[in-house]
Amino acid sequence: MIGKKQDLSYLKALIHSMADGVIATNKNGTIDLYNGAALNILDSNQTIDQMNIDKVLLLLDTAGNNIHIPTILKDLSAQFISRDYRLQYSDGSFVNLYISIAPVRYTYGKNLPQGFVFILRDITREKSLEEERDEFISVISHELRTPVAIAEGNVSNAQFVLEKQDGDELLKTAINQAHQQIIFLSGLINDLSTLSRAENNKLKIETTDINVVELVKSLQKDYHEQAHAKGLELEAHTDDGLELLRSSQLYVHEILQNFLTNSIKYTDEGKVLITAEPYKNGVLFTVSDTGIGISKSDQERIFNKFFRSEDYRTRKNSGTGIGLYVTKKLAALLGAEIDVSSKLNHGSNFRIYIPNITDVA
Ligand code: ADP
Repeated sequence: MIGKKQDLSYLKALIHSMADGVIATNKNGTIDLYNGAALNILDSNQTIDQMNIDKVLLLLDTAGNNIHIPTILKDLSAQFISRDYRLQYSDGSFVNLYISIAPVRYTYGKNLPQGFVFILRDITREKSLEEERDEFISVISHELRTPVAIAEGNVSNAQFVLEKQDGDELLKTAINQAHQQIIFLSGLINDLSTLSRAENNKLKIETTDINVVELVKSLQKDYHEQAHAKGLELEAHTDDGLELLRSSQLYVHEILQNFLTNSIKYTDEGKVLITAEPYKNGVLFTVSDTGIGISKSDQERIFNKFFRSEDYRTRKNSGTGIGLYVTKKLAALLGAEIDVSSKLNHGSNFRIYIPNITDVA
């Protein structure tokens, strides 16, 4: 055990050795303590002791509006974190900032002074890498879209012609496989393009009257081959009472396609079932499988960006971990509700309720 005195100097040394900027204030925002890294980020060599944090930390949001720190502190009961603020310097230049603000909590000594601790980190480089990556994804997905669509159309025509003829089986298999791979590629490109638009808040909805029965049928037709190749049944049931659904054909298709391709990918035996039935003011779709299932802890994370389960049965399949993230974004846009139930080694059931969108005149 170290004594109280050493304890204190040890803690001070820890704070001063930290690479992140640390500033502690009292409950009114007056600075009591800070480290060298904080001065570096503030680009200052002056003392900031006893100054108000609001005068020292000039923050802007992404739209360039000033952030009023006292307003954040006023009702702060839990940790506040942002990666979207900029720190403005007096010469007009700025850095992107990771900032965390937390109320100081004591486990003993209720009479000790109350206050806040700020952690600051310059993330300008990370941010610009993120922007470059988003830009790259956006350009690549845009450029790939047309050639892949043309290839898909041509291969699909060739497939159609071959099916009609009593031709070479080898050729038929080759063309079928090529077609499956192109369909996979175009799904991936769609996800990438939706991802970059979602990140830039550029997703727009175009509503049409969707024939749900046709939509489910076409999905079954597109993925029947792929399921069959794995020895799986791909069944579809649509309720007789279904009416047209007013929503985005493109996005509803993309959502169901993501559920369906996952179910086929993560199921080694049994079947995959897609259903649609009228529900509240819209349609309830389910995609269920008899696959590897998803553990309880993974179920909480499958909609996170780039999340893929560590399970080797997941990892033996190719994937990016963006399908369900994109699905969640699209569902939010359509006002849809997703519900997942799954049992490890038994299978998964993805349900999504998509309401009719009433257009505003
Ligand atoms: P991926 O490209 O990895 O399939 P997704 O975002 O579509 O990315 O899915 C995220 C993760 O959720 C998958 O990697 C997998 O671990 C899990 N998952 C999704 N659907 C299923 C399913 N039907 N059965 C088992 N696991 C699934």
